[in-house]
Amino acid sequence: MHHFEYRDGRLYAEDVPVADLAAEYGTPLYVYSASTIRRHFKAFDSAFRGLDHLTCFSVKANSNLSVLRLMAELGGGVDIVSGGELYRALKAGVPSEKIVYSGVGKKDHEIREALEADILMFNVESMQELERINEIAQDMGRVARISFRINPDVDPKTHPYISTGMKKNKFGLDIDHSRQAYKLAQQLPGIEPVGMDCHIGSQLTSIDPFLETLEKLLAFYRELDEQGIKIRYLDLGGGLGITYDQEEPPHPEEFGNALTNALQGLPLTLILEPGRVIAGNTGILVTEVQYLKSTPSKNFVIVDAAMNDLVRPALYQSFHAIGEVEQHSRPAKSYDVVGPICETSDFLARDRELPEPRQGELLAVYSAGAYGFTMASNYNSRPRPAELIVDGTEVQLARRRETYDDLVALEP
Ligand SMILES: *Cc1c(COP(=O)(O)O)cnc(C)c1O
Repeated sequence: MHHFEYRDGRLYAEDVPVADLAAEYGTPLYVYSASTIRRHFKAFDSAFRGLDHLTCFSVKANSNLSVLRLMAELGGGVDIVSGGELYRALKAGVPSEKIVYSGVGKKDHEIREALEADILMFNVESMQELERINEIAQDMGRVARISFRINPDVDPKTHPYISTGMKKNKFGLDIDHSRQAYKLAQQLPGIEPVGMDCHIGSQLTSIDPFLETLEKLLAFYRELDEQGIKIRYLDLGGGLGITYDQEEPPHPEEFGNALTNALQGLPLTLILEPGRVIAGNTGILVTEVQYLKSTPSKNFVIVDAAMNDLVRPALYQSFHAIGEVEQHSRPAKSYDVVGPICETSDFLARDRELPEPRQGELLAVYSAGAYGFTMASNYNSRPRPAELIVDGTEVQLARRRETYDDLVALEP
């Protein structure tokens, strides 16, 4: 893993030994690399240099204020899916004209808050949502810029839980319904239809589903154009995959070139909503080995990080590379790396070859920068981990570790 590398057998996060961070801040511990976040953002964003475009980082991948501040500094916008994410984005200094709002279940107060902030646009997912936004906007004396989220019925060939653009999914409107939706939207006084949106899924390892989607959207775009409905923004969502294990996802440059070819010359601003591809490989979860235990069929490493800290293996059977923080030259054996939670699904890895770990040693769980901390919970009354951002030799505590008092703070 080149984002975090070994120097003389010690794992470093940029210029700081990870073991030093664990000694100071405890474990489990999320550690992000600021330089890597910057590099990934720029690599992604510059892939679209040939097009008028806006890169809107998907806040749900990593919502830490310090991470969002980095995105804002880099000139990025954000894609939000809740009022809470809007609050974070504004607090981090993301300009409201660079905020797009997706999600199937926007509540009244969330719509009001987004209109108050005057965000760039709402990605609308149903007719009832359209009507609700119209009513609230009129009530506030505003006009809401919207796009419809189109469900193109394309199979993204990824995990079913993160496929979102197929007929059977709850997301968006199919093209037939979208036709009526744009017509209605044009007539509603609180609504200005300005865009077309989609997001077909996550962790895509090929650009073909994106191109298939784009083809459908462009045909629909031309149809709308002929009817006098002028679309200015084309939002292709997020979804570009990363390497967790052996995957070979397309480089953003390849994605950028393909989209540039398809969209060149059209009077459209392209919006992209990358999450994982920017943040995923910028973070690790550091955990301490508590116990080793062998049964006739398995060797278990019981660590102090669990499914409440990183749920992806339990939820999607997903792979996260795991490595030593201090390298020892011990033979590898096969282990299940498990947490202390009372669920059989509480594992970080299964049947994984690891150099024999010992009690008290540290392990790094890779690719934990996206959908890691943001999906963490307090299950089993476990305080959530601290988050650090390392930038060269500088270490910033981006979120302190929760305390037992935090656990009960809202309960009388
Ligand atoms: C989750 C999500 C994204 C980001 O997806 P990634 O796979 O992390 O790039 C973008 N847009 C929408 C609407 C989403 O729900």
